[in-house]
Amino acid sequence: MTIRHHLSEQLLLAHACGQLPEAFNLVVAAHLTLCDECRARAGAFDALGGAVIDAGGGVEMADEAIEAAVARITGFPREAARLPVRAQGVLPTPLADYVGGDLDAVRWRPVGMGVRQAILPTSKDATARLLHIPAGAAMPGHGHGGLELTMVLQGAFLDEGRRYGVGDVEIADEATQHTPVAEAGGDCICLAAADAKLKFSGLLPRLAQPFFRI
Ligand code: ZN
Ligand code: ZN
Repeated sequence: MTIRHHLSEQLLLAHACGQLPEAFNLVVAAHLTLCDECRARAGAFDALGGAVIDAGGGVEMADEAIEAAVARITGFPREAARLPVRAQGVLPTPLADYVGGDLDAVRWRPVGMGVRQAILPTSKDATARLLHIPAGAAMPGHGHGGLELTMVLQGAFLDEGRRYGVGDVEIADEATQHTPVAEAGGDCICLAAADAKLKFSGLLPRLAQPFFRI
């Protein structure tokens, strides 16, 4: 597995400081399970997050404390912060814990055009869902009222000329208007988290939105 699309530094820092909604934490945790590179970076950010929390939430953090924490980041050993490696199966361990098993435990619901989803139980400030997109099928085109993280668990999707394979995370925000398409040759299963309702451009998806809580 070659991961090409990683978590941003903002996400890793917010994760380390405990400032992400549960749904985003789930994506971060799932990616860290698969990605050595981000796991090493996360270890460094955890050091910074700890320093921020020690300093009383970061608001009053002295310049020297920030410098010391940043120095720790740049010098952080890469093999530090080992997390449990991936269990056998498609779902990374943190995700399997939510589902209560692997893919066969997922309770899918059809959302039209062959796409299926399963909403995961997280806090209300953001939603997390599993998406099953048939090979070659497109997600409805949409914009975003906030941040959206989409991580591939099986297969791959193409979006704006980029390919996202297993472990890759696409980060979309208010500026993104996109239509991800599952790669031909295999169904694509993703974990998607969003902190605001998606804005669909077509009328039908918009009408369907209240029913599917997307
Ligand atoms: Zn990564
Ligand atoms: Zn999107």
